[in-house]
Amino acid sequence: MSILPGAYMRRMQDILGEDYPRYEASFDSPAARGLIVNTAKTTQDVFDRLFTMPTRPLSYFEKGRRLLSEDKVGGDPLHAAGLYYMQDPGAMSAVAALPEVKGRVLDVAAAPGGKTIAAALTGNEAFVVANEVNFPRAKVLLQNVERMGLTNVAVTSLPPRDFARYTPESFDMIIADLPCSGEGMFRKEPQAVSAWNENINLMNAERQKEILSDVLPALKEGGTLLYSTCTYAPEENEEIVAYLIEKYGMRLLPPKKEVLAVTAPAMSVNGLDLTNARRFYPFIEEGEGQFFAILQKPGERIYTTKSIPTKVSINEERRVRDFLSRNLSAEIPVINKQGEDYYAVHPLARTLPLRYLSEGVRLGELSGGKFLPHHNLFTAYGGYFKNKEDLSLSDPRLDDYLRGLEIDAKNCSDGYVAVTVEGHSLGGGKCVEGRIKNHYPKGLRTR
Ligand code: SAM
Repeated sequence: MSILPGAYMRRMQDILGEDYPRYEASFDSPAARGLIVNTAKTTQDVFDRLFTMPTRPLSYFEKGRRLLSEDKVGGDPLHAAGLYYMQDPGAMSAVAALPEVKGRVLDVAAAPGGKTIAAALTGNEAFVVANEVNFPRAKVLLQNVERMGLTNVAVTSLPPRDFARYTPESFDMIIADLPCSGEGMFRKEPQAVSAWNENINLMNAERQKEILSDVLPALKEGGTLLYSTCTYAPEENEEIVAYLIEKYGMRLLPPKKEVLAVTAPAMSVNGLDLTNARRFYPFIEEGEGQFFAILQKPGERIYTTKSIPTKVSINEERRVRDFLSRNLSAEIPVINKQGEDYYAVHPLARTLPLRYLSEGVRLGELSGGKFLPHHNLFTAYGGYFKNKEDLSLSDPRLDDYLRGLEIDAKNCSDGYVAVTVEGHSLGGGKCVEGRIKNHYPKGLRTR
């Protein structure tokens, strides 16, 4: 494999031994693509009926599929409606390995959102704080969370140490999918090969330790840490797990057996048995490289919650709820205000004193006494709108709607309307005398 750096190849030969030729041969195939079905929005059966590209279910993650096509999905209306999220099957193995996802979850390095989405769908009663320190990437993360219409996710853009400071011992689980040297991505992203050098692993390992030390005080005693990378370097993988065990007294837990079956055990470090930490290799199962370990913080986990009052006045809440009850058939339990916007928030969000970029579902704002709905209200609760215009996949109005054009109204009556595709919320608009004024955001339009 001439494109791979010599020192890297020699290390992989040492690690893999007689399996090395199989690893090298994996570069002859294109990177494996995958997707997560948004089971908060649709069912697997409906997805199969609507999605025309060939897929194969993953044996280790029931929401995951291997996509058996190289076609682009960007312009697919089902993608725009958040029926699925593209993620490589290897990256899915880490969340798939978790025996349960419950309570308050912090995804400390979350953009663009794959692990957050998988976790929020797996633990639909969990509340996930998706954090991304890099602000432009946090905005992409937010856009993905909104497109999927998730109601149990809030987004922050904070340095990891802020969680220890403002929310000590508050999370039942922390997902730390940390920046790494990306060796597992060499097949998919050739630029990761050119960025590689012999110092990169130690540099990343130092940063990983720093992020973990910063964020671990935010994990409850007895809470779970999912540590993952997309690299093969022992310095960034096994040595980090050993560091967590030796410095923090953490205990390595076994992954789900379906994931054990498609992954290789981690290597021993400092005499520690790390076989429950796992290596995902493309020559065992189709997907890009991944490493993960599930660890438990010492102590006993206690589920405690102390509510923080919302910042919305009785009068404002009445006006927002008035709009919602006229337009929606769903009950929104908690409403909070952030800046000029009102949010439907998960009750667990109101137990964490955090500065949110988005505290939950952005409902809209009051302007001159009128409530103006935000796109996120339609993506998350469009299915509950009383006034709906449903477009089939073959309806020519669908393309026009995605391009931002006004479309004819066939079913809806005057007022705000949720535009759905095959019954799945896509966006919104305002119906006026037989026409729908398009409220699909400019930045998302196809042309
Ligand atoms: N979990 C994401 C997913 O599934 O889509 C992928 C996360 S990616 C491997 C690592 C993320 O860590 C990047 O978004 C990067 O911006 C962020 N990051 C980089 N340096 C960081 C730091 N010092 N502290 C926290 N996050 C950092």
